[in-house]
Amino acid sequence: MRALEGLALEIHACTLCPLSQTRTRAVPGEGHDRPELMFIGEGPGFNEDQQGRPFVGKAGRVLEGLLGLIGLKRNQVYITNVVKCRPPNNRDPLPTEVSSCRGYLKHQIELLDPKLIVTLGRFSMAWFFPQETISRTHGKLRTWNGYSVLPLYHPAAGLRNSQLYSTLESDFLRIPEMLTGITTVRGKPSHPAEPQQLSLI
Ligand code: URA
Repeated sequence: MRALEGLALEIHACTLCPLSQTRTRAVPGEGHDRPELMFIGEGPGFNEDQQGRPFVGKAGRVLEGLLGLIGLKRNQVYITNVVKCRPPNNRDPLPTEVSSCRGYLKHQIELLDPKLIVTLGRFSMAWFFPQETISRTHGKLRTWNGYSVLPLYHPAAGLRNSQLYSTLESDFLRIPEMLTGITTVRGKPSHPAEPQQLSLI
């Protein structure tokens, strides 16, 4: 079984935190398995919890619209969240819930090895940069453990506030140029452009 699918099965069976008792379905994430872009939101909402898929409600439609602006469809990127189960009534995830789920997201990042990670909202940004604020760091390309990370506002924030939406849109439109500028060699030996150097010693 492929590692990403195995990880998804593990997430579906997870009981590491109390969110496992209130979820309908866990939401591991979905999309391309060798993506240039990986999007990380906060956590499943009502629709995501019902369907077991990330960003399928109103915020998802905003995200799909933004992807369309840069010529992409959702199956060309990978989409997931910081917590894989819905916090009751869409409350903010608790620090203990975020840390219980941390290993899953870390493993997904390693397996997918994206060229650029795009965080959506402050919880996702804080997963990488706990000292930062979203108002200061949005739209700025950062690095974390050798990965390029771009923090953006959450699409749901864009739904509530048209000024935030404009900022989100203009930050989003810079993604193609950022991708071109990123020269990081991705680590996975299976990447066709980067044949593994075998050494016998
Ligand atoms: N908001 C998120 O952060 N993630 C989802 O999957 C849906 C809405």
